[in-house]
Amino acid sequence: MDTKDKKITVEIPLANGCTLYRRPNEVGGFVYSSDEIGCGVHVWDTALVDHRTLLTAMVDYHTLMYRESLHHNAMINAHEWRCFVCDRLRDDCFISVRKRDLSEQNHYPPGTIVFNLKYCNDKTYCTQASLHEAIPIK
Ligand SMILES: [Zn+2]
Repeated sequence: MDTKDKKITVEIPLANGCTLYRRPNEVGGFVYSSDEIGCGVHVWDTALVDHRTLLTAMVDYHTLMYRESLHHNAMINAHEWRCFVCDRLRDDCFISVRKRDLSEQNHYPPGTIVFNLKYCNDKTYCTQASLHEAIPIK
């Protein structure tokens, strides 16, 4: 970092179109602020908070947002299920579930491994086929 950078306010363009301002504080560090709120907002003072604390907070927040987006995307498709007989993706109202207890054949107590066989409840073939043990479990 250039020594003059330690004495002047530097404007850093942000991805959201706003500006991050870095100005020197009284103890040789920096105060960061941005214009994301009308009259400006304090972002960080290097003299008050360790950079690793800020980084940890950002990573934590990013992780939360990432999980939330995964959950949101999962919820968008939550109304559709794949039929295990015909392999078509169907709306929730056309899918029923037949539970199969696979515990005994895998040497576990009953109810330990339960497979939910989803099938089209409006297709005779899928409904009949779901009754047979031969339906492959995917
Ligand atoms: Zn089907």
